Amino acid sequence: MSAEPLLRMVLSEDHDVFVLRQRGREVAAALGMEYQDQVRVATALSEIGRLVPGAVVTFSAAVEPRPHLAIVVSSTRLGMEIADGVAAAARLMDEVRVDDERIVLTRRLAGRADAERLDRVRDELAASVPTTALDELSVQNRQLVAALEQVQAHRDELLQLNAELEETNKGVMALYTQLSEELEQTNQGVVALYAELDERSAQLREANEAKSRFLANVSHELRAPVTAIIGLTRLLLDPRSEPLSGEQTHQLELVQGSAADLLARVNDLLDLAKAESGRIEPAWGPVDLAAVFGQLRGTLRPLARPDVQLEVSEPPVADLVSDEMLLTQILRNLLTNALKFTDAGSVGMSGWVDGERLRIAVADTGIGIPYAEQARVFEEFHQVRGARQAGGTGLGLPYARRLAALLGGALSLVSEPGEGSTFTLELPLRPPRPEGAAEPAGPLPHVERALIVDDDPAARQLMRRLLAGIADEVSEAADVRSGLAIAARQRPAVIFLDLRMPGGDGTQLLAGLAADRALDGVVVFVVTGADVSQLRPQELARARAVVGKEGLTRQAVVDLVAGLAR
Ligand code: ADP
Repeated sequence: MSAEPLLRMVLSEDHDVFVLRQRGREVAAALGMEYQDQVRVATALSEIGRLVPGAVVTFSAAVEPRPHLAIVVSSTRLGMEIADGVAAAARLMDEVRVDDERIVLTRRLAGRADAERLDRVRDELAASVPTTALDELSVQNRQLVAALEQVQAHRDELLQLNAELEETNKGVMALYTQLSEELEQTNQGVVALYAELDERSAQLREANEAKSRFLANVSHELRAPVTAIIGLTRLLLDPRSEPLSGEQTHQLELVQGSAADLLARVNDLLDLAKAESGRIEPAWGPVDLAAVFGQLRGTLRPLARPDVQLEVSEPPVADLVSDEMLLTQILRNLLTNALKFTDAGSVGMSGWVDGERLRIAVADTGIGIPYAEQARVFEEFHQVRGARQAGGTGLGLPYARRLAALLGGALSLVSEPGEGSTFTLELPLRPPRPEGAAEPAGPLPHVERALIVDDDPAARQLMRRLLAGIADEVSEAADVRSGLAIAARQRPAVIFLDLRMPGGDGTQLLAGLAADRALDGVVVFVVTGADVSQLRPQELARARAVVGKEGLTRQAVVDLVAGLAR
């Protein structure tokens, strides 16, 4: 702090408060403070000054530690009454400190305040003469007006700000509306997209169903001529037929082999088409795993190459309810593949129970399946490229996987190329019970004897399985003549009759039944894939009902048989 104060004055009279105020402003102005700061200093001093009559006020300025103005108000009579003034002054100054007999007010200085400048200020102040209270009042009024103007300016500024804010709000609202509209448009787009997706999947489903129908029809149509070729060749090769030359015999054997191959492939196609169209309904029942394992062990051993060991282990003890025939088909498929693609080492089958599920693994030490192909071997017609062509249609695995799904299970593959493959079938110990697969509630209807007349063995097999647990005895006939003969002999409660059969139409059997009074009580259901609208109604008059082959489910059969008594 500069040794010499800038100014000192005594508040001896009441109006000295005005002088103090004026001096405060002058000192602040001389030290280069801005107008607002000058008013602050002046007002702080008048707030204090009016409470301490007789006090000595000393103004000084210092450059250390930072340039600042210090005003010391000394009085021997500082009491509680100064509290309000000090509080007001504290809001206007940087610091207001009170000790025993002094109030010290400080305010920082913005500009440079070197000693030389301070001397100049001191001289200026000494030369200026204090004005009167009236002068100070007018100064104060001007200051008030200025303050009011400032307030007004602030208010205007605020109004403008509000106006701008309102504009901004309008902008935000517009943006919001636009965004909402865009969102709604996007939503509409998404909804349309989903509708299109639904339509596409419906189309896909229809196309897939059409494909299955086509496969089923084509393979059904192909089977008859192939069966005929096989039969005719067998006839020609029969030793009782006309003798053939060695070459002819050889060629006919080739024809026979090819026809058998063709038949196997057509059957594969038909199986898959049926599984896909949901026409295979599992006939749930207790499964004798020992019999399944034993049968596969016995029938497949001849397929193993000389250096391959077929090891079918003992089956696990499991209380399994599934479809024994479908299960056997899946396992036969896996084992046949394993034997086909294994030149040396072993092919093994083993099973174990894992909680509520049965697992059966078929493992081989064969050529394995490249990683990139592992998912694709389950696709229809897919055969591994570059792998040895071992015959087959590429339908075995997709069919096996379909069947596994029908049984409520799954089929998975782990394979190491060059080392071997393991296919694992996983089945629930109890049939799953989703709608459709569920066994109809309540007791099953019952008949003693049923007869199935159909030239297609697969269709007869399906029908027989649909009748499981309903008919005590089921007979089969492949043509009209033997159908009629069996009907006359056994008098079945019900006949399931196919219409289109080589060597005699189903309507002929209906006519034969109608002619025999003894067979009046035999109910006939026509089960056909043919278009019945082409037939004359009187030809079908003897039938209780006509059912499409496509719609033949377990539930449909249950309903038909349950209606017999009516
Ligand atoms: P297919 O055997 O009639 O060709 P699959 O659907 O049963 O048809 O099998 C598809 C393909 O998967 C086979 O052609 C073969 O390339 C491959 N594959 C199946 N099983 C095995 C196996 N155990 N080891 C190696 N490759 C296999």
